[in-house]
This record gives sequence, C-alpha cells and structure tokens, in this order.
Amino acid sequence: MALAPPARDLHDRFGRRISYLRVSLTEHCNLRCRYCSPEQGTPRFARKDHLTPAELDQLLSVFRGLGVRHMRFTGGEPLLYPWLVDRVAYAHNLGIEKLSVSTNGYLLDRLAQALAQAGLKRLNVSLDSLIPERFARITRGGDLNRVLRGLFIAREFIPRIKLNVVLLKDENFAEIPSLVDFALAEGFDIQFIETMPLGVAGSMSRAESYVSVAEAEARIAHSHALVARPRAPDDGPARRFCVTGFASDIGFISPISENFCASCNRVRLTSTGRLVYCLGQDDGVDLLTPLRAGLTPEALADLICAKVWHEKPERHTFNDDPTRAAPVYMMRLGG
Ligand code: SF4
Repeated sequence: MALAPPARDLHDRFGRRISYLRVSLTEHCNLRCRYCSPEQGTPRFARKDHLTPAELDQLLSVFRGLGVRHMRFTGGEPLLYPWLVDRVAYAHNLGIEKLSVSTNGYLLDRLAQALAQAGLKRLNVSLDSLIPERFARITRGGDLNRVLRGLFIAREFIPRIKLNVVLLKDENFAEIPSLVDFALAEGFDIQFIETMPLGVAGSMSRAESYVSVAEAEARIAHSHALVARPRAPDDGPARRFCVTGFASDIGFISPISENFCASCNRVRLTSTGRLVYCLGQDDGVDLLTPLRAGLTPEALADLICAKVWHEKPERHTFNDDPTRAAPVYMMRLGG
C-alpha cells in the first residue's frame, strides 16, 4: 500500500535540487564485467538485510513526495530481481515522469514486453563491443548474440533504448565508429562513458584502460559530423549530439576529464536500504532500520532531507588521487 508522501523538495547545501533517484534492486549479476566487478563477484549481504518489495515501495513513495521525478532501476542486474515488473508499475503509478532501467540485456527477450506493459518507456543496455570475442572478454564470458536478441525484441515494445558503452582504451576504442554506425542504423541512442576508479574490479588497470570522451568524440568526427543538441533541463551530465538524417542521440559522459558534479541532481539507494549521497564516496545513511522501527513517512522524509542537506559532498574526488579507487562496489551501486 502506498503511503501518503510528504510534499516538499530535496536539496543539498550547494544549491542543488535532488530530483533523480537511482535504485539498486539486487547485488546479483549474471555477468562479471571487468570494469564493474571482481571476477569472483562481491561479498553479499544476508537476505534479511535487503529491503522487501513492500519496504522498497514505501521508500519510493517517500522520495516521490520529496520531488523525485526521475527514477532508474539498476543492480547488479535488475532483470534478475524477481519483482522488477511490479516495482516499475509502482513507480509508474506514483507519477515518476522519467522512469528507466539499466540492464545488461541478457533477460530482455523474456521481460521486455511485461516491462513495457508496466509503464517502462526507457531502457539503457550495456553494449561495450560488437565483436563476440571482445564482448566475452570485457564481460568475462558474456554472449553478445544473447544481448543483441534481447535488444531487438525490446525495441518492439520500449520506445527509447540507449546503448551504454564504457570506454576502454585497450579494448573498444578502435570500435567506436562501428558502435555509432550500429546505433544510427538500428535507431538506438548511444552514450560513451569514461571508466571511473570505483572499488576493486579485478585485474583491470584503470590507468591503462582510461580514455577520455574527447578522444572518443574526435574519433567519431572522422566519419560523422556531430551536431550539438540543445540541453534539456533534465539531461543530466551527458553532452548530446546527433548526426543529420538520423534520430539517434549520441552522448558523452565525462566524470573524469570534465567534472560535472556542480549540476548533480542524484542520490542512490542500495538494495539493503542504504541511501548513498555520491557515487565517488561510501558515505550514506541506513533507511532500512528506521523503516523497520516504524518511522512514519514524514519522519523518514525529515531524516532524508537532513542527511542529504548536511552530508552530500560537493563533488567526487577521483582526480585528487588517481591511484586511489573509491571504496565502493560499482556492482552494488549500479554505476
Ligand atoms: S560523482 Fe557524486 S557529486 Fe558528482 S555527479 Fe556523481 S553523485 Fe553527483
């Protein structure tokens, strides 16, 4: 049952309005991408320490009351979360204007239609390569054809699909033009993202893998004339372009080379009910314990407002010490 949401907006002390909640539904994933996860996976929490679907709905309702208009379900892999379709329907019925899911695409063939029927209109699918051997190497065993099958089925039902490409100098840098050609030809949006020093992710050397979006943009400019799109208020950190004659957006997200934290509008909720203020730091507040102790929605809203106001940092510190990985597991936070 939805609780009556408190009506007020969420702000931090740097003048930013927080209107975007990223919700990690599960720690589980069926891939082990080398920039995201250690090969053996991450330590897991006990089942009792995770939000139940009803508890999660209560928190979603509180955040909606705090002016959150954009929600994204992530993981781990959110399509492994057994109650995903119901959570999408719940968020849709709350009136979330921009509702999306980020997935590796493995289970889209089975779930895309149900997600669309629940109200999902936007989907982000990771696609770091179109070469099967490279895709398998980056994802530590992933099957490219399975993702492509899911993508083509999903586009029958979900109108906006964006391909997420994490830039890896030693892997997919040379493939950037082919990835753009694929997106343009198939009508998908595409965005290129700089890899970030988040937690331990196995054997990958971030220094060797890092490539800036400026280098990616220059590579695309050899074959395509990029035309800048005007910024929309809820665009987030991506710079967006198009190519004349095609509907696809081509976006670039540059957390390292061009810090965009000044326009940050987001916080993250983990599957254990922890509200994390910034992707680059591990600071956060446990919402599960007060929820189970019977705190009212108004009191939860007060707690969230006070914590975000006082504790959300101004920016990440990735660039202050490039040798130090932020002490978070990307696989838990959903990137
Ligand atoms: S790194 Fe932190 S402050 Fe910067 S945009 Fe991301 S969440 Fe916001």
